[in-house]
Amino acid sequence: MGKAIGIDLGTTNSCAAIFAEGRPRLITYKGGETTIPSQFAIDEQGNRLVGHEAKQQAQLNPVNTVMASKRLIGRNFHSKTIEQVRQVFTYELMEGDNSEVLIKVKDQVFTLEQISAAILRKIKDVAEEALGAEVDQAVITVPAYFNDRQRQAVRSAGVLAGLKVLRVLNEPTAAALAYGLGRNLESRVAVYDLGGGTFDISVIDIKDRIFEVVATGGDTFLGGVDFDDRVMQYVLEDFYEQHSIDLSFDRVAIQRIRDAAETAKISLSTVTQTPIEVPYIFNGDSGPLDIRMTLTRDQLNELCMDLVDRTIATCQRIIKEAGCTKADIDEMLLVGGQSRMPLVQSKVTEFMGKPPSKGVNPDEAVAIGAAMMAHSLSSTSAEDGVTLLDVLPMPIGINKLDGTMHVLFEKNQPLPDYKTRTLTSGKDNQRSIMLRLYQGESKLVEENELLGTFVFSGIRPAPKGKVQIEVTFHIDSEGILNLTARDKATGQTVESTLKLGKPGGAKSKRKKLKNKAARKETAPPTPINMPTSSLAQQLGSPPPMAPPPLSPVPSSLAPSATEDAPTVKAPPTPTPVSEPPPLQPPAVAPKPEKKGFWAWLKGLFGIG
Ligand code: AMP
Repeated sequence: MGKAIGIDLGTTNSCAAIFAEGRPRLITYKGGETTIPSQFAIDEQGNRLVGHEAKQQAQLNPVNTVMASKRLIGRNFHSKTIEQVRQVFTYELMEGDNSEVLIKVKDQVFTLEQISAAILRKIKDVAEEALGAEVDQAVITVPAYFNDRQRQAVRSAGVLAGLKVLRVLNEPTAAALAYGLGRNLESRVAVYDLGGGTFDISVIDIKDRIFEVVATGGDTFLGGVDFDDRVMQYVLEDFYEQHSIDLSFDRVAIQRIRDAAETAKISLSTVTQTPIEVPYIFNGDSGPLDIRMTLTRDQLNELCMDLVDRTIATCQRIIKEAGCTKADIDEMLLVGGQSRMPLVQSKVTEFMGKPPSKGVNPDEAVAIGAAMMAHSLSSTSAEDGVTLLDVLPMPIGINKLDGTMHVLFEKNQPLPDYKTRTLTSGKDNQRSIMLRLYQGESKLVEENELLGTFVFSGIRPAPKGKVQIEVTFHIDSEGILNLTARDKATGQTVESTLKLGKPGGAKSKRKKLKNKAARKETAPPTPINMPTSSLAQQLGSPPPMAPPPLSPVPSSLAPSATEDAPTVKAPPTPTPVSEPPPLQPPAVAPKPEKKGFWAWLKGLFGIG
């Protein structure tokens, strides 16, 4: 049996830790570094590069260097998020057969899971070298605000990297473990986690070895890269003012300025002013031009004030959702590299009325907590046991006919949990039923993430309304959804197949009205436990099945994949609720149009 490690898989950097000889410690790579850049590239010679090697060549090879891919993982190609970024990423995004996002690097196509797996594999290799032993198990952390699909994708990436994933653990929970495990505490803490790409806040009760999350929330598109963007925009504007030259179309120049902006931002956490120098950034008529300027901490604060204010507003909301006030929080823990910014610390101090805890190292706490959890899960000793009680970060539900979401599982509800709903056939001899599941905080499904379309097939032929399928939705302690279905009359399990597909909540008003009118004529019997409108939306013939997915479909969600479309032998009656078969858009996303720097950047890092 190999060793079990904890992995903090970050947007910008990743790191790993191990619990050995009675204490956790970070795994150090060659050269003494404890983090590796979360980057993947293929160079001119066709070599695959991961981590530092990928980052080193990123400025010269931005099109074939994948960075910040954690922002895309587990998302539907047609989701709003991907729509925003796909025109403007330096690397090419494509749509997979199952509407998943694929990345093209030098004529090779990868799933997001494969890219993350390459980074995880690198971490595994480096850990094995550092520890001199095989590493085959891991606890991998994710932002608390990740949805079901994102969690599934990280789990799959771990498996692809050759790891047994002991648990997918929320980053703030990991930080709380690093802070409180083994200290015999009874305390309520809030974990403010501002990393490279995401912001999370969780309120957690610690009672010795029991860690209970009370409320959680965040923003998967707010992190250190957004702070870098602000500095970069400032540098570009300054350069334009001086030379009337817009560098925003030069990808190589942008990458160099981005690196310089991040370096300056980090320096300003310890000094009050810093030079920004990028030599030979442009070859002008009168020779090469350089960037040479000074940035002060006050200027940086001004550029980034609204970003920090956004995090404080989220803290306020989540503390309220936890049913408490600031005064009930014993300690505020700051984690994530960006929380080292003095402005973050002063704003948090001002908001809480007391300084944040010094009990954890912001860069290390998540990996350390993950290593503690990995130790606990791989140990046979009862003394090492830890109880984690987590909550669901965002509601999960199904679409109603009017495009709103019928919530099955509420935000912040304790995990694990299950719910059952009964679906009823709406046509004679209907052989299949379709159900779409969404996750997100909006009332409208089209603004939430489509988790998948489930097709229940092989239903026994019977007159309409005579087949009742009981579906059980089970969310496990990691926030991952599983689904089973059975025929209520016979007790037989009904096959269900997961199809990711396009979000179908948004229909034209005309079509909605048409469906509504048709539904009046053929309204199915009211199902048990379920509003008629939401059920009606789900019944009818499913569209043809998509071909088998390129990326691994989470087995828990696809108990029995079938490749043929379920045949519906029913006579052609008005079908009120079936969705049109998915159109096949061009597989390759159109080449990014030339856009202004700010639009490009906003898209790259998902802001605005
Ligand atoms: P993490 O995901 O926790 O590794 O955080 C990475 C982010 O933290 C990156 O955007 C870094 O630029 C930022 N960061 C790291 N160290 C500092 C620092 N001392 N001050 C401000 N930001 C930092």
